[in-house]
Formats: sequence, C-alpha cells, structure tokens
Amino acid sequence: MTNEIQKKERRIQQKKHQKIYDSTHKEQKKERMQKYNKKYRKTHPNYNKQNSSNYRRKCRIKVLISLGNKCVNPYNIDHSAFEKEPDYIKCLQIDHINGGGRKQKMAFKGNSAKYHNYIFNHLLDYQLLCPTCNWLKKIKNNEK
Ligand SMILES: [Zn+2]
Repeated sequence: MTNEIQKKERRIQQKKHQKIYDSTHKEQKKERMQKYNKKYRKTHPNYNKQNSSNYRRKCRIKVLISLGNKCVNPYNIDHSAFEKEPDYIKCLQIDHINGGGRKQKMAFKGNSAKYHNYIFNHLLDYQLLCPTCNWLKKIKNNEK
C-alpha cells in the first residue's frame, strides 16, 4: 500500500520536474514532442490522415470562395465552355497578382493549410486563374 503511494508521489514529482525542465528547455521539449508525434503517426497510420486532408481541403475551398471561385479572365477569353465542367474549380490556380507566388509558397515548406490561411489573410494580393490564363500571364509578363 505504501508502495503505491510512494509510486504516485514519485510520479507527481517527476511531472513537476518535467514541467520546470520544459519551461527552461523549450527546444528540447519541441524536439521530444516531434519525436513522440512521429512515433505516434507511425503506430497509428490512419489517425488524423483523413482529418488533416479534410482540413487542407477546407482551407483551400475557403480561399477559392473568397476569391470568387472562378478565373478572373484577364485576357477576355471565352471561358463559358469549361466553366460548365464540374471539376473546373479543382483546376483553378491561386496567383499572386504581383508575381513571386512560387517563392512565397516555398516559404511554407509544403504546409498547404498554413499557406492557404496566409492567403486568406492577404486576399487583395491574390487572384484566381485557370491554367491557361496563368500560363498566358507568365508568358506575357516573363515571369519565372
Ligand atoms: Zn482563365
């Protein structure tokens, strides 16, 4: 019985120490959490996969809707034919109006949710283009 209490007592002490340690060793804590998360994802391969891809999709849809959900058509090309295509929206590309969107996207290191949330907070800098208009813009503006 006393053994149980001692054990419990020790665990509380350990937790206390861990908390103090963590508050002064933030980097180590981050590393430990990353390691733990990595291991957890490995042992629970399906956990969160669906959720996070749903979340990423939601972030993208939020941006698409806010940007008008269709190509801004800067060169006045007839879009009516492919706007009827149900998968048309999936082809839309988010374009940084002043160029440099690719570099900016790279800064988010593949975290598309963060990237789309960033765009959502800077909507005035972005527009939607279909692939054709996007290429035309690139060619006309000599963007790389
Ligand atoms: Zn277009």
